Amino acid sequence: MFLMNKKLYVISGSSGVGKGTVLKRFLERNPEFMLSISCTTREPRPGEIDGVNYFFLSRGEFKDCIENDKFLEWAEFAGNFYGTKKKYISKCLEQGKDIILEIDTQGALKVKNKMPEAVLIFICPPSYEVLENRLRGRHTEDEQTIKKRLCEAKIELERSKDFDYKIINDDLEAAIKSLENVINKERNDA
Ligand code: ADP
Ligand code: 5GP
Repeated sequence: MFLMNKKLYVISGSSGVGKGTVLKRFLERNPEFMLSISCTTREPRPGEIDGVNYFFLSRGEFKDCIENDKFLEWAEFAGNFYGTKKKYISKCLEQGKDIILEIDTQGALKVKNKMPEAVLIFICPPSYEVLENRLRGRHTEDEQTIKKRLCEAKIELERSKDFDYKIINDDLEAAIKSLENVINKERNDA
């Protein structure tokens, strides 16, 4: 897949660190970017809309996509499957927009392997305790899921050593600014 003069940014970070919050504000301020919509087998959270937040698939549908080589990358995360459709990314590229993927670290490293020009950005919490409080404070997961996600957080941090940039999401505004600085730097270097 060719990126032409467009850049692909991959944002990862432990569940609850604030990726969604940072990206929502970033995209409001920088509407020229396109956020990729992933496929997942997890249940929608209250308020999540199919085709907006995710394409919600059954496990069978997801398996068919794997078998038919539809994914640029896919991974299992905390008991569910998540993947980025190749077709979705090529559509974004046709529209001439820089693309942001918000995916887990396994997926991010797979993308980097296929597209070395992709820029990997890891969002860190100020501390493990803050991460746990944010994840619990969101009230979207049951206790078993929270435990799985906190366990994944340690593995994700280990994988982040291969990322291009790290941003600490302590003060929200500062984190958004850091993301803007990284992207401006990459654009100027291009
Ligand atoms: P993620 O997308 O990484 O799983 P969310 O964006 O859903 O995380 O954020 C998890 C929770 O943390 C949300 O309740 C959100 O409002 C809160 N949050 C995000 N960033 C900050 C921040 N900088 N300071 C305090 N709370 C935050
Ligand atoms: P959530 O269930 O909280 O929406 O997402 C759980 C994890 O899956 C997060 O780390 C999120 O970044 C990741 N994720 C979302 N979409 C994708 C995807 O398409 N591929 C991969 N590998 N991970 C994804």
